[in-house]
Amino acid sequence: MAKDSINNYKFIGKSKFNISKFKTDDTGEFTDRAEAVDEFVHNLLKINKLQQRLYAERKEGVIFIFQAMDAAGKDGVIRTVFNTLSPHGVKEFCFKVPSSEEASHDYLWRFWSALPPRGSISIFNRSYYEDVLVGKVHRLYEKQVRPDRLNGIDIIEQRYGQINDYENYLYNTGTRIVKIFLNVSKDEQARRFISRIDIERKNWKISSGDIKEREFWDDYMEAFETMVNKTSTSDCPWYVVPADHKWYARLLVSRIVLQTLEEIDPQWPVISDEELETVQEFRNKLEDSLSGGYIEPEQQLPQFANPGVIAANIVENEERAKIVEKIARRKERGFDAVYKLLDDSPVIGSLDAIIEAVAYAEEKAKDTDIDTDTDD
Ligand code: AMP
Ligand code: MG
Repeated sequence: MAKDSINNYKFIGKSKFNISKFKTDDTGEFTDRAEAVDEFVHNLLKINKLQQRLYAERKEGVIFIFQAMDAAGKDGVIRTVFNTLSPHGVKEFCFKVPSSEEASHDYLWRFWSALPPRGSISIFNRSYYEDVLVGKVHRLYEKQVRPDRLNGIDIIEQRYGQINDYENYLYNTGTRIVKIFLNVSKDEQARRFISRIDIERKNWKISSGDIKEREFWDDYMEAFETMVNKTSTSDCPWYVVPADHKWYARLLVSRIVLQTLEEIDPQWPVISDEELETVQEFRNKLEDSLSGGYIEPEQQLPQFANPGVIAANIVENEERAKIVEKIARRKERGFDAVYKLLDDSPVIGSLDAIIEAVAYAEEKAKDTDIDTDTDD
């Protein structure tokens, strides 16, 4: 993995983040998305395997925090990068405007119940950083009730310190925190808003509130810059991900997630010699109970697996790639045709798998005109 390339986007409190100099349309070493598909699906496969060990080991919990302007692609990143994870070890929390109950507590209160147990991953789709973003831009703290003794305090400045203390506490009690800011340009946001208005099935994603917030763009940029500069630490870093190209943002996030899990390096738990002896005895009894004796299982065919794993298998297997190429060519006949083809083929997949596979097939079949715009 091109590890250096994510370090270019990593902030640990040493170098300053200057948002006006940041290239939001960066694509790293790639010229187009087809070149990145192979690495992306392999990252998903590796993430899937590491998560199984993280869950089995149950030593450390992990939080991935996502912050961004509207339409920067948070939901799409989360959907694509985390869809290989097992649901029993992962939960997404979408933090909205605080409810009246939440607002009647301190601003960190609502996050306690979302913290991951050891071995699990919590995805924070927005977080307490909203309190130094929207909270700062609109001075929401001025309307919040507080005792007189706290009047005159610079609330936002104080919050940066409180957040650092909170994260430091969590890190030192067994929770890893990785913070990702998807940085989209104002022009790209405009293009995505337009498509949310023009394309009916995307209409639900836009609100008049989103358009109003756009008017505060410069204030938000200042708030994001200050947030990164005040709350990046080597233990709990910020990654600023260029988000004008969805495929590149997704690839980088897959690298960040993978590298985080690789650093944790979870191991399969080993059972004690005593326990092993007990189960060994049990195993022999089980064997004796089988009427026909026990035959070692042959190499098994892949089981039904999740989309990322399937996609990775597809990439690994030339024969499957050919099948997927056929799928891609027939895509214009609609998904029913694709399903039919899947029924007749050894590829066991879902639409997500097909979508990734189609992107791969696109690379393999450059001469055909395939519509692979699937990133709504
Ligand atoms: P979305 O994620 O697009 O569904 O929107 C959620 C909305 O909730 C965004 O406009 C956020 O700015 C807002 N939000 C989240 N947390 C807070 C908070 N602590 N205070 C005020 N607004 C918030
Ligand atoms: Mg929104």
